[in-house]
Amino acid sequence: MRRVIVPAAAALIALAPAAPATAAGPQQKVPAAGPQQKVPAAGPQQKVPVAEGYGGAAATVDLDATRAAIAVLRKGGNAVDAAVAAGATLGVTEPYSAGLAGGGFLVYYDAARRKVFTIDGRETAPRAMTATAFEGVPFEEGVTSGLSAGVPGTVATWDLALRRFGTLSLRQALQPAIEVASKGFVVDQTFYDQTAANAARFKDFTSTAKLYLPNGAPPPVGSVFRNPELADTYRELGRRGPGWLYGGRLGQEIVATVKRPPVTPGSTRNVRPGLMETSDLTAYRALLREPTKISFKGLDVYGMAPPSSGGSTVGEALNILEALPRVGLHEYLESSRLAFADRNAYIGDIPGVPLRELLSDGFAKERACLIGERALTSPVAPGSPDGSYEPCARPGDASSPAAKAEGPETTHLVVADRWGNVVAYNLTIESTGGNGIVVPGRGVLLNNELTDFTFGPAPGDPNLPGPGKRPRSSMAPTLVFKGGEPVLAVGSPGGATIITTVLQILVNRYEFGMSLPDAVAAPRASQRNSAQTQAEQAFLDRYRSELEARGHAFAPTPEIGAATGLEFVGRGRVQAVAEPVRRGGGSAMVVSPRR
Ligand code: GLU
Repeated sequence: MRRVIVPAAAALIALAPAAPATAAGPQQKVPAAGPQQKVPAAGPQQKVPVAEGYGGAAATVDLDATRAAIAVLRKGGNAVDAAVAAGATLGVTEPYSAGLAGGGFLVYYDAARRKVFTIDGRETAPRAMTATAFEGVPFEEGVTSGLSAGVPGTVATWDLALRRFGTLSLRQALQPAIEVASKGFVVDQTFYDQTAANAARFKDFTSTAKLYLPNGAPPPVGSVFRNPELADTYRELGRRGPGWLYGGRLGQEIVATVKRPPVTPGSTRNVRPGLMETSDLTAYRALLREPTKISFKGLDVYGMAPPSSGGSTVGEALNILEALPRVGLHEYLESSRLAFADRNAYIGDIPGVPLRELLSDGFAKERACLIGERALTSPVAPGSPDGSYEPCARPGDASSPAAKAEGPETTHLVVADRWGNVVAYNLTIESTGGNGIVVPGRGVLLNNELTDFTFGPAPGDPNLPGPGKRPRSSMAPTLVFKGGEPVLAVGSPGGATIITTVLQILVNRYEFGMSLPDAVAAPRASQRNSAQTQAEQAFLDRYRSELEARGHAFAPTPEIGAATGLEFVGRGRVQAVAEPVRRGGGSAMVVSPRR
C-alpha cells in the first residue's frame, strides 16, 4: 500500500463541487426551466466539451462529475483519487449508467513506476449459476430480473484503486458524490429521457418508483433531483468500508433484493429472482490484470484484457490496419468485422484464451489478407490464432456467434494529474437503468450485467454463464504511448459499439490526422460482423454512396457512443475532450488554463 499523506486531505472532507444549481426543494421545478433552457449556473463553470491547460484534466459525460474530479486534483489528490470521486458522482447524476452496485474496468498509468496497471472490477456470476441458467429466458425478461444481477465490482474497484494507487481514503473520495446526492443536481434532458424510457419497468418496483418516478412521473427537466438515501449509503460505506457491502449489512440487503425483488402489488411483470448469496459477495475480488498491448504506427496501445474483449478487439483491428497498404473507412469497417468474428469465437472468462496470438502481427497479417476492394459477407468465420500463419489463409467454415443488439449504456471518464498519472475508467450497470430495481432504502439501482453472457444453448461459446464467471465485456478504456510517454487516453459507453467507437477515434486521430476533438465529434459507424453496419445519419450523408459501391450495407442508428478522452499536446499541456452533442454533450475541464 502506498498512501501519501496529502497535507490538504482533511480539507477534502468539505470538498465538493460548488453548491448545486438552485436551492429549490426536492424534485421542485425551477421556474420557467425548459428542455432548451441552459442549466442555471453551477459555480463558475458550464459544461464545455473541450478544455486545455495544465496541472491535470478530466472529462466525463457530466458537469458535476468532472468538477468532482477537478476539485480533488486541485486539493492535491492524484488521478486515481479524482477518478474514484468522479465515478462515485456519476453514480448520483448518471445513476442509470453507473453506480456502486455495478462494475467496470480501470486502466491506470503510474508515472512514478512508468507502468500501466488495469483493474478488473467486472460483476461476477453467483456460484449457483450454471451454463444453462439463461436458457429459455426471453432476453427482455432477463433484463429486468434478479437473475441478471451480478455480484457488484465497483466498490471493490474503488477500494483497490485507492489502496494501491491513490492518496485518499474511500471516505474522502466519496465526499463530492455525497454533496451532490444530498444537495441535488439539475435534471437535464438526457436524465429525463432515460427516466421516461424506463418508466414502464420502474413503476413495477416500489423502491424504484418511489425514487425515480416521484409523482408517478419522471422528474421534470430543470428540477433539482436529490437522492438522500444514496448520500447516506455513501456515507455509511465511507465509514464502514467495503466490507459493509462484501459480507456486511448492505450486502445482505442487496441479496434480499435480488432474491425477492420489491415488485409493485398488482404488477403483472414476471420478475425472475436471482441466485446471489452473501457468500458470493464475500468471495468477490477486484483483480489487477496485465493490460493488453500492441504497437501501431510507432505507438504503444494499452487496453483491457479478458474478461473484457475491449483490448483484444481494438488491438487486433489496429494490427490488421497496420498490415494494410492504405487505410480508409472501408478498411476501418473491414478490420472491425474480422476482429469481431475472432472476439465472438475466442474471448470469454475462460482459461486458455489465445490472447497473445490474437494480438500477434502474424495473425493480423493473415486476417488483413482477406480484406479486398469489396466488403466481406458477414458473418465471416473466425480465424485460427494458432501460431502458424500463412499469407492469405482462407477463412474456415466455423461460424462466429452473432452479436446482440447494443444500446447507449455505461459511462467512461478520463483523468490526468500534475504528476503525469493517467486514468481511463469505464463503469456500468449494463442496461440504461440496470435491472430496474433500486435496493430499498439505499438509493441505488442493481446491475443486470449477467445479460452480457450468451443465453444459450450455444455449445462451445466462450461466453456461456458459469459459477463465479465474469461475463464478457466490450469496455475498452485505452491508453496510447509514444516513446514510453502517455500521449492519449480514450474510451466510451455503448455495449459492443464501445470497441468500434474507440477504434474509430484512434483511426480518425492517427490515420486520418484529425485532432482529438474532431476525432471524437466525427460521425460514427459500427461494423461488428453483421450484414449491416450501424451508422449515424451524418456518416450516411457523407459516406453512404461511396461505401455502398464497395458492398457495404447500412442500418441507420441515432447515436453511437459517448466518448471521453484526453491528449498531451506538448510542454505539459493537456487537452480534455468530451462529446459536443451525443448524449447531451459531455464536460471537459482542466485544473488551470495557464501554466
Ligand atoms: N455491459 C456492457 C459491456 O460490458 C457495458 C454496458 C453497455 O455499454 O452496454 O460491454
